[in-house]
Amino acid sequence: MSTLRHEAIRTIASAKHVLNRLDFKKVHAKDIYGINVFSEEVQKQRLPKPVFKKLQETIKRGAPLAPDIADAVAAAMKDWALERGATHYTHIFQPMTGITAEKHDSFVSPTGTGSAVAEFSGKELIKGEPDASSFPSGGLRATFEARGYTAWDPTSPAYISEAPNGSTLVIPTAFLSWTGEALDKKTPLLRSMDALSVQVTRLLKLFGKDVDRVITTVGPEQEYFLIDQNFYFARPDLVSCGRTLFGAKPPKGQELEDQYFGTIPERVLAYMAEVEAELFKLGVPVKTRHNEVAPSQYEIAPIFENSNLATDHQNLTLEVLRKTAPKYGLACIVHEKPFARINGSGKHNNWSMSTESENLLEPGHTPHENMQFLVFCAAVIRAVDKYADILRLSVASAANDHRLGANEAPPAIISIFLGSMLTDIFEQIEKSGSAGSSKKGGDFITGVSVLPTLPKDAGDRNRTSPFAFTGNKFEFRAVGSSFNIAGPNTVLNTIVAESVDFVANELEKAVKGGKKLEAAVGELLPKIVKEHKRILFDGDGYSEAWHKEAEKRGLPNLKTTIDALPVVVKKSTIDLFAKYKVYTEGELKSRYNILSEAYVKTISIEGRTAVLIAKTMILPAALRYQKEIAESVAAAKAAGASGAGSKELAELIAQINALSSTIEKLDKALDHHTDGEPYDHAKAAQAHVLPAMNALRDVVDKLEVIIADDLWPLPTYREMLFIR
Ligand code: ADP
Ligand code: MG
Repeated sequence: MSTLRHEAIRTIASAKHVLNRLDFKKVHAKDIYGINVFSEEVQKQRLPKPVFKKLQETIKRGAPLAPDIADAVAAAMKDWALERGATHYTHIFQPMTGITAEKHDSFVSPTGTGSAVAEFSGKELIKGEPDASSFPSGGLRATFEARGYTAWDPTSPAYISEAPNGSTLVIPTAFLSWTGEALDKKTPLLRSMDALSVQVTRLLKLFGKDVDRVITTVGPEQEYFLIDQNFYFARPDLVSCGRTLFGAKPPKGQELEDQYFGTIPERVLAYMAEVEAELFKLGVPVKTRHNEVAPSQYEIAPIFENSNLATDHQNLTLEVLRKTAPKYGLACIVHEKPFARINGSGKHNNWSMSTESENLLEPGHTPHENMQFLVFCAAVIRAVDKYADILRLSVASAANDHRLGANEAPPAIISIFLGSMLTDIFEQIEKSGSAGSSKKGGDFITGVSVLPTLPKDAGDRNRTSPFAFTGNKFEFRAVGSSFNIAGPNTVLNTIVAESVDFVANELEKAVKGGKKLEAAVGELLPKIVKEHKRILFDGDGYSEAWHKEAEKRGLPNLKTTIDALPVVVKKSTIDLFAKYKVYTEGELKSRYNILSEAYVKTISIEGRTAVLIAKTMILPAALRYQKEIAESVAAAKAAGASGAGSKELAELIAQINALSSTIEKLDKALDHHTDGEPYDHAKAAQAHVLPAMNALRDVVDKLEVIIADDLWPLPTYREMLFIR
């Protein structure tokens, strides 16, 4: 008997992977950085000076794009792209599927007299018109109103995507309907950055700082799994759903904690190096790589950038991670919870606000004296408390439901960890309106004479907090590994814009009334702290006690996506996003429908895949084994040794009966018909399909440890996670 699983193990054992694909002695990594980007440097070299200046005004200061420069930019881009081997160009956009979309057009235009020229006009650079009808619109458009436009985003540079037979010039764009509604994730993100910039520059004026523009910055840390591709192909659930629907707990999981920061396996390290080299060429500033907590789990993190660029680069990182893996015989899995009972994957979203020269969340050495920092920090605290439900919603998905609150990722209750130094300062402020001192970290005594003395941070870290202050930025840790970070950042920017708007109003009023700024701040901050300190929590977010305490404090605990979804269309949500022109009510309703539909589709695909595997792989294996034991029992009986094997046979038969009845129940749950809106369908999927799927999994996982190993068809957790 040989299964695809055994085949996979044999193939992996004898595989010889080509790992030496790059030679950094010949070409240093720094010399490939950005070579495929139409960067500021390239623009400067290739654009007429006035055109370059106008374009930079838009990119750096957010000035409206000058309409007369498009042709010149397009011509320069085309020449550059052709020199770099491009044959096609594409507008890349981020529809609400969560992944990116692109349609390629050739540069080649026939002249009509038998030859051809390469063409690319300003019009083609600025605007594209993909048929929008096949992308989710959540009711924003009927299918007969298929017009959608892609609009060039000059603030994210175009780049070359290399491919074996000709490269493509890729132009980042926003995607809008004919009526101007956002059909994508980039448009609301850009709107939210504008909203925040307006409010923060206003507040900075009170501090005597006159800046044109404030940007938000993001550094997303990406977690992912790598398993051998032979295993991946032998698991229909991984291929169709991105996660395993079955799999018994392996004898060794992550309990020895020997994976985190462990030595990176050679094949994986080679893969990482190529991923980084590819991203370097695209100007993505990746910096850090390491093993993560779960077996076969890893992380890649870039240096932070402007949120819009960071988002585009994050999407590129996911693409390159996925695309490079097969070259090393690997499959890259970015699902939030590919394997039960070990850690899932997230994406820590490090976030701050910045002028051209100043990080506004940098506390400095004496934060208690840094009034401006304290004001911005208080504004963030107020925003996160006031809109905790929207922040929770921004990370809701069927996949992330397996992770949030599972004692590995932050709980679904949003709270803020400030660390002991800031907590102490805000406690002083609450009492007296100002703080007289900052706790010092002091020196870190190693107790070993040859080791240097290290400066110590004033506070420890807290792994369980969903929203933690980490030195000079906030880290939103509930984001899922497969998420487009545009969504969570759009929410963050908007809620902080509202909060800064509030703070600026209060301070402007007080100052106009003749108060000194310091006195005005001294009055406002204690009020904010009193009203919003319930969101501050420095303890163990996993503990039962915190869940009770959070409830007492009145903090929302939206456990699942189904609990969170209604927040999209709550009046306070609609009012907030309308006020700052980030989402219209129609755009929010469409997202409510799209998110609900995505939930239903995810659960249905999983349910159908589970039934398929159970019926065509597990049940046949179980029945074969039943026959085998039954024959042994009969043979034993004939030899006068009755009893041998009959207990095992009875147990097996009981599990096989349980298997067919749970398959039947899941089948029925999948057929369950619900009337109503997409959200009602999503609710029904959660109520009926999820429990039936879990019940089936229980039975299959039991069978996995009963059935003879030579008959078991699916690669096991022990194999997928540890054979590498
Ligand atoms: P870890 O949280 O694992 O200790 P680091 O502290 O090294 O990781 O930083 C994580 C991420 O935070 C990196 O991507 C880094 O660039 C980013 N980061 C640092 N400063 C800022 C900032 N001002 N704004 C946004 N992200 C930042
Ligand atoms: Mg981190």
